[in-house]
Amino acid sequence: LYKPVGELRSPICCILGHVDTGKTTLLDKIRNTNVQEGEAGGITQQIGATFFPAKKLKEELIKTQQFYQVDCNIPGLLIIDTPGHESFSNLRTRGSSLCDLAILVIDLMHGLENQTLESLELLKIRKTPFIIALNKIDRCVEWKNKKNASSYHQLQNQTKNCKMDYETKRQQVVTQLAEKGFNVAFYWENEDPKTYISVVPTSGVTGEGIPDLLSVIVKYTSVYMKNKIKVKEQFNCTVLEKKVTEGHGTTIDCLLIDGQIKKDDKIILAGFQGPIVTKVRALLTPHPMKEMRVKGEYIHHDVIYASMGLKISAVGLEDAMAGSQMYLANSQDDIDKATQIINNEMEEVKKYIKLQNQGVGVAASTLGSLEALLQYLNSQEIPVSYVSVGPVSKDDVMKALKNVLLEDVNRRKKEYACMLVFDVKILPDAQKFAEENQIKIFEANIIYHLFTKFTEFIKQVKE
Ligand code: GDP
Ligand code: MG
Repeated sequence: LYKPVGELRSPICCILGHVDTGKTTLLDKIRNTNVQEGEAGGITQQIGATFFPAKKLKEELIKTQQFYQVDCNIPGLLIIDTPGHESFSNLRTRGSSLCDLAILVIDLMHGLENQTLESLELLKIRKTPFIIALNKIDRCVEWKNKKNASSYHQLQNQTKNCKMDYETKRQQVVTQLAEKGFNVAFYWENEDPKTYISVVPTSGVTGEGIPDLLSVIVKYTSVYMKNKIKVKEQFNCTVLEKKVTEGHGTTIDCLLIDGQIKKDDKIILAGFQGPIVTKVRALLTPHPMKEMRVKGEYIHHDVIYASMGLKISAVGLEDAMAGSQMYLANSQDDIDKATQIINNEMEEVKKYIKLQNQGVGVAASTLGSLEALLQYLNSQEIPVSYVSVGPVSKDDVMKALKNVLLEDVNRRKKEYACMLVFDVKILPDAQKFAEENQIKIFEANIIYHLFTKFTEFIKQVKE
């Protein structure tokens, strides 16, 4: 594996956007695997990361160098596949997003859609810089494609009709964005990417625009975000997901943002029953150019340097909480400090929103998704009375709705007799208790679906 030699680490990017805009297809095209076909309904439900070594990036940058000068002085690029925005929400580290740059995919044919607007909202809240991939350019009338070519060149090679069709549609999207307060510019004309958001025309199907997309990512991160991606000693690592891995038991998929980790290092991380201290048994990465959740052999390492997505195998991870920070615990001092931070972290997230006497109850699988839910509810002015992370117990339901439960069923505010549950189990006694007390529980594994269900319910109540 690589060891950083320059002064910059690999930037971390993620992809957001409305369902069906082509996020998975674009990623597939870039890494030449076929994750999308293996996905149920084409919806990306899991977090995966792909590392692109500099060598691979340089092959693509050549295609745009005539008109867009970029030096590749980063060791590579780490791209995270996100299903809409819930993984992006998970990727929080102490209040800010750990994703350096986001790619917001917009379907040229459809313009701004619901989840596009939500993504824009989240990007704004997290202050994450982003660029726009204006995708499906190949659907313009009379489009003549050339596989994996620069879209800048390709747009010049089209018929008059095609250019007109493209220009009309592009202008519509630009207008919609301007109405939302976002000013955009073609990346090749954009002299001021901090003020104007760069737009890159792409096609996930033909691969046109992928060299352009990579060029813009490399330039943006290595020029405009130089300070943020400087190599740092300080260990910074986030747990993305917990899963059982064949031959390794319960493992955690992590993103190492800064620093390094060695086999046999002691680590400490948040668990549902309190902090977990354990020892790294194996450091694993998938083979290069493959994505984490593609099955296959893993490579074992003695040491891994940031930034990198990796899988850690260790004893006692069954109870680990995804979305939390992980710390090194090689001395008692380390352990004490980390324990305190971990214990405070939950309180910190709770503090994010002022809990109200009356409001809905909220439960989520990770701190990150909890925070995203709270942020969204906050922006929708929906009051919250109680929050929890992990499986929902009867106790959670009782505590969440203690004010509501005191009231006569017919007189209580129905919109507050609810729990919004994201991506966690509801224990049977909790379910039973809710039913007996006419408490509605909304459940979903996609945040967007949860909001849709809840919004519909509110509409009904108001009618
Ligand atoms: P996601 O939900 O954003 O991950 O979208 P997918 O990658 O699953 O794509 C949704 C649908 O759009 C699939 O049928 C893709 O084949 C199609 N699609 C994606 N990108 C393009 C594109 O650039 N051009 C065309 N014509 N179709 C695309
Ligand atoms: Mg997808």
